[in-house]
Amino acid sequence: MSVPGPYQAAPGPSSVPTAPPSYEETVGVNSYIPTHPAPVPGPTTGLMTGPDGKGANPPLYYTQPVPVLNPSANTTAVQTVFVQQPVSFFDRPVQMCCPSCNKMVVTKLSYNAGVLTWLSCGSLCLLGCVLGCCFIPFCVDALQDVDHYCPNCKALLGTYKRL
Ligand SMILES: [Zn+2]
Repeated sequence: MSVPGPYQAAPGPSSVPTAPPSYEETVGVNSYIPTHPAPVPGPTTGLMTGPDGKGANPPLYYTQPVPVLNPSANTTAVQTVFVQQPVSFFDRPVQMCCPSCNKMVVTKLSYNAGVLTWLSCGSLCLLGCVLGCCFIPFCVDALQDVDHYCPNCKALLGTYKRL
């Protein structure tokens, strides 16, 4: 008799997550209504549902000088946006736009001892190669981390780690 009814949860409220609190944002822009509704100054009870719509009869008794935004402000905000893709670094030079000098460069590689280098060193020591052979991984580029530098401004652009 007690049907659990899982199908009721299927068409759940997963759609339209931010529908209702839209008028609070529009009210917050004008900033003539405090966030706390308790200290309402005087006969403004009808105003609670008033500024819901944008052109729904603005109250005339609120004739305070609202600072009008400068209409020419949105015309000066012209900027070039570089949509830069996330660059994945490997053990080879990468052509990318340097975020430091904003130029298309091919990264310069620099090998440094990383985790894999020290693990290889330790492994060689355990195997008995203690007569300097354990330092071979520090000379093998394939066992070291790779730092990508900008050849123009010498900025560190990224690091490729073996492990
Ligand atoms: Zn650069």
